[in-house]
Amino acid sequence: MQDPSLYPDLKAVLEELKEALGAERVRHDATAPLPPAPNVSAFTSRDTRAVLRPGSVADVRALVGAFHHAKASGGELPGLQAVSTGRNWGLGSKEPAAGPVVRVELDGLGALRELDTEAGYAVVEPGVTQKELSERLAGTGRMLNVTASSGHTSVVGNTVDRGVGLRHQRTEDLLGLEVVLPDGSVAHIGWWPGDTSHGKGDGFNPLGLGPSLLHLFTQSDFGIVTAAVVRLLPRPRRQSTVRARFHREALAEAVDALRTWKANGLVSGVVKVYDTASTATYGGGDTAGGYVAHMSVEGTDRSAGALKAALLAEMAETGLFTSAAPGDDEQPPADDDVVAHVVDAAYRGSVAHNERMLASATGATADRVDADGNGWLFFLPFLPFDGASVVRALDILDRIHLATGIRPGSTVNALDADVIDLVVSFPFDRATQAGAAHSALDLAHTWFGEAGLRPYRLDSGHARSVVGGAAAEAALQRALRAAVDPLGVMAAGRYA
Ligand SMILES: Cc1cc2nc3c(=O)[nH]c(=O)nc-3n(C[C@H](O)[C@H](O)[C@H](O)COP(=O)(O)OP(=O)(O)OC[C@H]3O[C@@H](n4cnc5c(N)ncnc54)[C@H](O)[C@@H]3O)c2cc1C
Repeated sequence: MQDPSLYPDLKAVLEELKEALGAERVRHDATAPLPPAPNVSAFTSRDTRAVLRPGSVADVRALVGAFHHAKASGGELPGLQAVSTGRNWGLGSKEPAAGPVVRVELDGLGALRELDTEAGYAVVEPGVTQKELSERLAGTGRMLNVTASSGHTSVVGNTVDRGVGLRHQRTEDLLGLEVVLPDGSVAHIGWWPGDTSHGKGDGFNPLGLGPSLLHLFTQSDFGIVTAAVVRLLPRPRRQSTVRARFHREALAEAVDALRTWKANGLVSGVVKVYDTASTATYGGGDTAGGYVAHMSVEGTDRSAGALKAALLAEMAETGLFTSAAPGDDEQPPADDDVVAHVVDAAYRGSVAHNERMLASATGATADRVDADGNGWLFFLPFLPFDGASVVRALDILDRIHLATGIRPGSTVNALDADVIDLVVSFPFDRATQAGAAHSALDLAHTWFGEAGLRPYRLDSGHARSVVGGAAAEAALQRALRAAVDPLGVMAAGRYA
């Protein structure tokens, strides 16, 4: 832990911010780091000197400006670390990649600034949750690409970390960002409604003209995001969720069959396959059937009906599936099949059942996950969408189970015809298994890495600086960071 006396200038800046923002928005102890707070993944608590809780964009500008000014005058201060609702469970929650930092919690910026269901976009601040936005869209012709996490998570936080919803990766919905840059100025990047250059009425053009800047600010520590423009998806006229079970012996062929159906448009959104362990931890009712695939079939009344008939016929022809539930209203999932309820509702843009799944997985409500929840870690690699790759990945998970005693769960999230986001979860008992669970996560990084399978999101214990990456690309990213933030106002994050 750093010696607090290394930051003699911090106290003066924080006192200044108490005046400017209000004392209730600045939490610190002048003489020491804040006491460590628990996180559900049992990552080591890093040195966090203060927590700032701005209530407006003006507050964010004031605090970034104060840090910039102090650093420009030669002051020694820790960097700023931004979170939205800070519910990045499994990847570190609010913990930074390294200390010391001053954390900026943005959930106090809670405005849904604009909602246009005609054009299909919303402008949201970091405190807007997926529950709030999805509920505002109920009964409209638009829906939000929701995730399977709690309804109380942030649309902005998940999107800038490049999270995955039930329709696709959230970055596909990102049209524009409002960012407070390290010098305290504000930039609007990508597509913004009413902008004079890309005025309302323009087709969405998130890439703008010339080199696109949008993703300089996702998985990024180049600034603090204070709002995002996100797409709202057209709600299908008719949707149903087909569920099909199969055993491990059929895994490779079943995944290949799912790929054929995804590639040929029989199914929409993210195809999900839960293995027995993940079905059990997320609350999947009867787990005797092994693997469960969930597929969304949708369209107009006629096309959805025709697609479902074709899918069920092709599924029967394969002889691979032990059962198939067509997902009609007459055959709803069993009440204790939490996973089926969550996935079915989430394909339609609703988070109505997500808190039940969070409770199954962690044993806690959203507000208590970090304090009291059962241990939870994620490892998130991308794989090619083919049966052999999934079998190879699950064989690695079997080896990790044997080596550590921690049984990983896996969920295949097929994002398109070629890419799977494999969600590997390591549930563990925080009192007795934290060491074994972290060994399991370390082994996942090593063994998947040796197989050429890399994570697309990182946890606070395995920052980019630890897991590595292409050297030339990393050097260019560092050069850009130095150009945008020459004084180091922002702390180096997980992806630096
Ligand atoms: C049971 C369970 C199910 C889950 N299901 C899913 C799922 O389906 N899909 C999924 O993606 N995740 C899932 N998660 C993981 C996690 O809960 C979500 O990703 C969640 O949305 C992240 O928390 P948050 O929204 O509060 O974002 P935050 O924790 O606020 O933000 C995440 C990260 O983004 C960056 N960031 C956030 N806000 C800003 C900002 N304003 N400016 C700059 N950078 C910022 C920071 O690096 C931050 O650490 C699940 C977790 C559990 C336990």
